Amino acid sequence: MVENERLRQEMRRCESELQELRATPVAPCPGCEHSQESAQLRDKLSQLQLEVAENKGMLSELNLEVQQKTDRLAEVELRLKDCLAEKAQEEERLSRRLRDSHETIASLRALSPPVKYVIKTVEVESPKTKQALSESQARNQHLQEQVAMQRQVLKEMEQQLQSSHQLTMQLRAQIAMYESELERAHGQMLEEMQSLEEDKNRAIEEAFARAQVEMKAVHENLAGVRTNLLTLQPALRTLTNDYNGLKRQVRSFPLLLQEALRSVKAEIGQAIEEVNSNNQELLRKYRRELQLRKKCHNELVRLKGNIRVIARVRPITKEDGEGPEAANAVTFDPDDDAIIHLLHKGKPVSFELDKVFSPRASQQDEVQALITSCIDGFNVCIFAYGQTGAGKTYTMEGTHENPGINQRALQLLFSEVQEKASDWEYTITVSAAEIYNEVLRDLLGKEPQEKLEIRLCPDGSGQLYVPGLTEFQVQCVDDINKVFEFGHTNRTTEFTNLNEHSSRSHALLIVTVRGMDCSTGLRTTGKLNLVDLAGSERVGKSGAEGSRLREAQHINKSLSALGDVIAALRSRQGHVPFRNSKLTYLLQDSLSGDSKTLMVVQVSPVEKNTSETLYSLKFAERVRSVELGPGPRRAELGSWSSQEHLEWEPACQTPQPSARAHSAPSSGTTSRPGSIRRKLQPSA
Ligand code: ADP
Ligand code: MG
Repeated sequence: MVENERLRQEMRRCESELQELRATPVAPCPGCEHSQESAQLRDKLSQLQLEVAENKGMLSELNLEVQQKTDRLAEVELRLKDCLAEKAQEEERLSRRLRDSHETIASLRALSPPVKYVIKTVEVESPKTKQALSESQARNQHLQEQVAMQRQVLKEMEQQLQSSHQLTMQLRAQIAMYESELERAHGQMLEEMQSLEEDKNRAIEEAFARAQVEMKAVHENLAGVRTNLLTLQPALRTLTNDYNGLKRQVRSFPLLLQEALRSVKAEIGQAIEEVNSNNQELLRKYRRELQLRKKCHNELVRLKGNIRVIARVRPITKEDGEGPEAANAVTFDPDDDAIIHLLHKGKPVSFELDKVFSPRASQQDEVQALITSCIDGFNVCIFAYGQTGAGKTYTMEGTHENPGINQRALQLLFSEVQEKASDWEYTITVSAAEIYNEVLRDLLGKEPQEKLEIRLCPDGSGQLYVPGLTEFQVQCVDDINKVFEFGHTNRTTEFTNLNEHSSRSHALLIVTVRGMDCSTGLRTTGKLNLVDLAGSERVGKSGAEGSRLREAQHINKSLSALGDVIAALRSRQGHVPFRNSKLTYLLQDSLSGDSKTLMVVQVSPVEKNTSETLYSLKFAERVRSVELGPGPRRAELGSWSSQEHLEWEPACQTPQPSARAHSAPSSGTTSRPGSIRRKLQPSA
């Protein structure tokens, strides 16, 4: 192999040289020593190449040789292995022999010294044996070392074996454990499977039973439905027939309907026409009847007397005191409710008025007719006359429990208006005023102190009006009460002694009723004047002075002016002295014409007041006891302002309202030329 290597190196060297040589440029230069050299070198090269070829051949030979040697080496190695095995066997054998020998030696040692000697002898005697011995000892030593080593190995292997044994044991134990666990799980699984199987079977059985029951029920239902179906079929057939019939009817219905509508329309139109003509007829009749009623009512009131004078006697009160002064001096006629007897200074005096009311009577029926007249469009005046304390305010205003004429009149007014509400539209307005010392004041105004004037309407109608007099529209009795309260507070704040003041002033409540007939558009206006007059007692006589005297004079003047006016009206005098006082001037249009007047003369029944009572009753009689000629009232339809002189028409015979059995004694007759004769009571 070394040779081989060397040759290879040589070859490489040669090749590199060759490479170099090839690289050097070869210039053709004949005759040049270099070309000679080159030729030499080429030769050399070819020689070397030959050599290389030889070498290569040698090399392949050598390679072959190497191969052979390698094969031989493998053989040798095999043999070496065999040898080594043999050697091991030999060693084994030898070691056994050594052990035997040792044992022999030990046994020999245990024997007697002659043996040593023999050995020595043997040693001495045989050097060859000795050498063999030493050799074998050396070999023995070597083998022992090897044995020790093997032992060591053996020991390690034993240890390994032991540990692997232990491992095996552990693994086995684990495997056993796992196996037992597996067994247990398997058992459990089996059990569970068993119970599940049982459950499943049970559920299946139950479901099956249920299903069977349900199935049965369904079957029964089905049978019922089938029978129903069988019975329904004929019904369905009839229904279908009905439906078809109805459908046909519905199809022809619009035509029928149209026809029916046409005929109904025609009928309705005819009926409406009939009703309309009937209505027209009825309306005409109604209007005629209405006119007739109005006329009749008016006639009735007129027959009773457009101006009626009644007396009302108040009861004796605590304020009248006790003793002879407070004794009753007034009696009534049981047969005639128009007669009143008064015992004055021991002398009985009788008076005849239109009606006399005892302390317990109510004058509602008197008021009712007047209210109807007012709604019909006539003006109405209701006066309360009498001395202070005779009951004027009580009669006009009354108390909360026992309301007076004001309240009753307005209540009647509202109820009558409501009754007629379907045909008539009414608006009711209210004003309140006061006349004190011939000065007119608005009780509902913002400034009650302001003096109001009475003016003639600029439209030439001859009507009077009061500019600035407040008017409140009222819809119900509550509204009226509010107005009264307002007037009262106005008066209370204005005067410190209201009682005294009110007894010396005239309080007026003016209610205007404006109506419109919805069907005809006819309009009416009626005025209701409710007057609580000032006390009629005569103060001047007792020598009063200053303002008290002035008051008394004013009261006296206005009351006698009122008496004159009423007397003049009742006696149909040509001239009525309206302008003699503020009161009569203000009430001119409500006193004249076809207006109605009610004079309530209040009378105190007690002894101490007989003088004033006598005076009041005389006043009452003066204004009423005017003997009218037959018939002149017939002609009184016009207004007084336009009819200054009335002609007496003897042809018209109407009943005499004042013709009474107990007529008051007449004294003196005043007659106006060519007009009315009147019979007057002696004036107070
Ligand atoms: P005048 O207003 O005339 O001054 P009043 O109306 O104030 O008189 O009445 C005086 C008193 O007499 C009051 O206490 C009143 O309650 C009472 N009075 C008047 N008339 C009646 C009557 N018919 N019934 C009961 N009390 C009356
Ligand atoms: Mg009064």
